[in-house]
Amino acid sequence: MKVLQVSAEIFPLLKTGGLADIAGALPIALNASGCAVRVLLPGFAPILADLQSDSVLTELTAPWGERVQLRQGVLGSLGIAAYVIDAPDLYARAGTPYEDAQRQAHHDNHLRFALLGWVAAQLACGLDSHWRPAVVHSHDWHAALTSAYLAFGPTQGRRVASVYTVHNLAYQGVFAPIHFFDLGLPTQAFSVNGLEFHGQLSFMKAGLYYADHITTVSPTYAREIQTPEQGCGLDGLLRSRAHELSGILNAVDEAVWNPATDATIPAAFDAKKPAGKALCKAALQQQLGLAVKPDVPLFGLVSRLTEQKGLYLVLAVLDELIARGGQLVVLGTGDAALEDAFLARAAAHPQAVSVRIGYDEAHAHRIFAATDVTLVPSRFEPCGLTQMYGFKYGSLPLVHRVGGLADTVVDCALENLADETANGFVFDAFTPEALARAMRRAWALYERKSEWRNVRQRAMQQSLGWNKAAAQYVALYHRLLS
Ligand code: ADP
Repeated sequence: MKVLQVSAEIFPLLKTGGLADIAGALPIALNASGCAVRVLLPGFAPILADLQSDSVLTELTAPWGERVQLRQGVLGSLGIAAYVIDAPDLYARAGTPYEDAQRQAHHDNHLRFALLGWVAAQLACGLDSHWRPAVVHSHDWHAALTSAYLAFGPTQGRRVASVYTVHNLAYQGVFAPIHFFDLGLPTQAFSVNGLEFHGQLSFMKAGLYYADHITTVSPTYAREIQTPEQGCGLDGLLRSRAHELSGILNAVDEAVWNPATDATIPAAFDAKKPAGKALCKAALQQQLGLAVKPDVPLFGLVSRLTEQKGLYLVLAVLDELIARGGQLVVLGTGDAALEDAFLARAAAHPQAVSVRIGYDEAHAHRIFAATDVTLVPSRFEPCGLTQMYGFKYGSLPLVHRVGGLADTVVDCALENLADETANGFVFDAFTPEALARAMRRAWALYERKSEWRNVRQRAMQQSLGWNKAAAQYVALYHRLLS
């Protein structure tokens, strides 16, 4: 089965969050499950630079008249066949894929990402005479127009199944309505039964309305987004499509996240031989200027610093964490107010709190390897990957019971310890008090050394690889095509 995966990011070439990790791992897992996957990506500089054995497949004129090239080759870092849209006027920019260096959204994002969906639909409609996908699977709002273009495109009577995965409903790609006229879609598409959202143009709605099937990245989040509380104004549409909406839990790329083979950490370890973890902890404490103490719980936080991630709760309990003798390591970038607040705490307590503002993949690995607890107190969390990286590296996650965090973390309550299902710490109310109580539970377990080691070993031994999720996607594709 030929499957085209469409996304704006892909690990290890371009990553701002979990989307890239999934876009990099899923094609490989699907190929291993018998699919023939190709990816379609915008021609951002690192992606074009990684494209090998490439050639121009064709030149195209976008609906708004812009001339672009479509290149074809193999991504050297992943060994995956790829199509890349070569449009330097749109993609060769400083900043992130979405924002300029001043953190302002690029003024023409509607064109930059409409092009991605439009080219995906052209490929589905036979643009490459040697390779035509049976399934087009697009990810997040950046690729969401794929389904709309397909719905109105010349599929020549051939069935092409479209799947749209929501990685985060809060980022919707909403633009002024005037931009609809650039897209080359029929006017009927700009209606409440289409791309229109409170008078604006919504890319997210294109995916939710026109895709044959919607997935999201955990079963709990699939239910949550159908409620007014978490539906971001789209819960009505999602409820109306409840039978074509499912949650498939993300997984871990165990080739990248494996403390036994990870070259970025100072000492290797695994569930059976965890001794290297203590070396990783000491090395990080030393490197960051924290007090080098083996027996104090070291908490880690690797996160975008945004309101979603529940970080004000962490700031609210930080005094207690420090007073109890614990330590906190933070790596993140995002809202200036959060960056400043964490930096101020690190300046006030340099032996207990370390904060690095920025994006640093290797430092993230070292934090998971060194820490005892990974904090993920998100207000909402579609799936969350860092709690799973915490499992793999023996850093027990402490999480808010929401979305994919609820689907992956089992609290160390006594009954769960007795059942041998506990693998972390979970709190329910989104309050500093609830987080503080979970933190105290973590402390209590940490002081019972052998129980801590048992839970940690079990957490590390969980099977978190992509084969299960890949099988679920393959079953979905087959069902849609049958
Ligand atoms: P989200 O996609 O909402 O950001 P996820 O938990 O799904 O959250 O994925 C976050 C990914 O980004 C993880 O791979 C995490 O390790 C990584 N990450 C987040 N912030 C940073 C950072 N500052 N430096 C390095 N990696 C980061």
